Amino acid sequence: MARPKITVIGSINMDLVTEADRRPEAGETTLGRQFSTIPGGKGANQAVSAARLGGKVTMIGCVGEDAFGKDLLEHLEREGIITENVEPVTQLKTGIAAITLAEGDNSIIVVPGANNALTEDRIVQYENIIADSDAVLLQLEIPMPTVIRAAKLASKHGVKVILNPAPFQKLPDELVNDADIITPNEHEYVALMKEYSGDPNTIKEKLVITKGGEGTVFYKQGQEVHIRGYKVNAVDTTGAGDSFNGALAVQIAKGASLEDAVRYANAVGALSVTKFGAQSGMPTADEVHHFLA
Ligand code: ATP
Repeated sequence: MARPKITVIGSINMDLVTEADRRPEAGETTLGRQFSTIPGGKGANQAVSAARLGGKVTMIGCVGEDAFGKDLLEHLEREGIITENVEPVTQLKTGIAAITLAEGDNSIIVVPGANNALTEDRIVQYENIIADSDAVLLQLEIPMPTVIRAAKLASKHGVKVILNPAPFQKLPDELVNDADIITPNEHEYVALMKEYSGDPNTIKEKLVITKGGEGTVFYKQGQEVHIRGYKVNAVDTTGAGDSFNGALAVQIAKGASLEDAVRYANAVGALSVTKFGAQSGMPTADEVHHFLA
């Protein structure tokens, strides 16, 4: 089969990571131990996961006309992702996450910046790309009206919509209706069911709930199906969800059954936690093949 075509519409960020012995008090200056810049953003992370697993991935997003934006575009291209529709915008800076790792914990400030320039008006221009995809993969780090419109366009053309509802926000009914698969983690699932005003049975049939090392749960004709996770030596769980979503999109785009797609995505999530970093821990199709052999 030709490579499955996946369009990821979402965020692209640079993570600015400072490691320090302790975090400064308000008004205080301290010395840190180490600083690194690491490509991130849920959209870009999931695009990288899907591309490494053999997807023909088109990224739709916005970066600033600045050094981070340039670096991130080059990085996505090196991963084999089609970036011609990532628009550099002049009025806003590239999205960042300022992360401090100190005292065994992290504190994070996210500034969406250019991600907020990915407006509903802009997405309409990409209808042809969306229509030509086998699956569209969405998260919630871009404006909600854009997510809603993207799902509507995909649904209009019969393209599968996978929605990762993270970071959690209340999902409007029309977005739930247009999504084929919704992939909360355990916490997002609880929030989702609390906030959702429609019929719980309608949304349940679309849910694929990731439960860390335990694996994944979905519902088939009202019955819970539990696909067990793989036992691995977990060293860093950052990005497990993003790895899982990229993998699920590739399998669904290929026409796999939900059960097979989830089993494969569980393996990808498991492999990702055996290495440090979000994107740096994401496996290739060959690595998954060997793991499952
Ligand atoms: P994160 O926010 O850390 O990126 P998440 O909370 O969105 O992750 P999880 O439910 O933790 O998502 O993980 C997604 C999938 O990855 C799980 O369904 C599972 O298949 C796999 N996974 C995660 N953690 C582990 C683990 N410790 N061992 C094996 N598989 C794991």
